[in-house]
Amino acid sequence: MELLKQRIEKDGLALNEHVLKVDSFLNHQIDPVLMQEIGKEFAERFKDAGVTKILTLESSGIAPSVMAALELGVSVVFARKRKSLTLTDDLVTATVYSYTKQESNTIAVSSRFIKKEDTVLIIDDFLANGEAAKGLIEVVESIGAKVAGVGIVIEKSFQPGADEIESKGYRLESLARVESLKAGEVTFKDEKAE
Ligand code: 5GP
Repeated sequence: MELLKQRIEKDGLALNEHVLKVDSFLNHQIDPVLMQEIGKEFAERFKDAGVTKILTLESSGIAPSVMAALELGVSVVFARKRKSLTLTDDLVTATVYSYTKQESNTIAVSSRFIKKEDTVLIIDDFLANGEAAKGLIEVVESIGAKVAGVGIVIEKSFQPGADEIESKGYRLESLARVESLKAGEVTFKDEKAE
């Protein structure tokens, strides 16, 4: 997605060879106009997938998911990372190792909001080792619902998550694919491959 790549080039900051900081439009401050375009792009790519629900992970997955959900006419469920006093019933959980925080979290979704009849599109902000996406897939499948695919705003293609998800047969749509990072420099995969 050209607009997203331009924005990453302009405002993204490669902290080192592994981590890209995009807190001026996605991870802290949010640009709603860009999010709307991202939502449209996800909706276009998954328009024939029969999506009935979007599942994401709090908190950075919520904005792009809501915009995609608006376009597709479905609701969004965000998996909780923290224990909540009000989220107590019918919880389906998975353990996810957080790439950025370097700790394990239990993610939880209430089975009141995702049913076995659902076809679920999983959306997240970044794909690195695939832990978050795999945890969300685990939740959907343990409910008995269908995974429509995985939509990612920024894929770091040099880390193993993308290959792993595709090799397991899931459809993966990443709006920007980063081939490599160096302090202060971002190279996109499509620049060489296409
Ligand atoms: P994974 O679970 O695929 O290993 O990592 C994905 C999660 O880690 C995302 O939900 C995202 O919050 C975080 N993450 C991974 N890599 C980056 C990165 O380079 N920059 C930022 N801002 N977050 C990242």
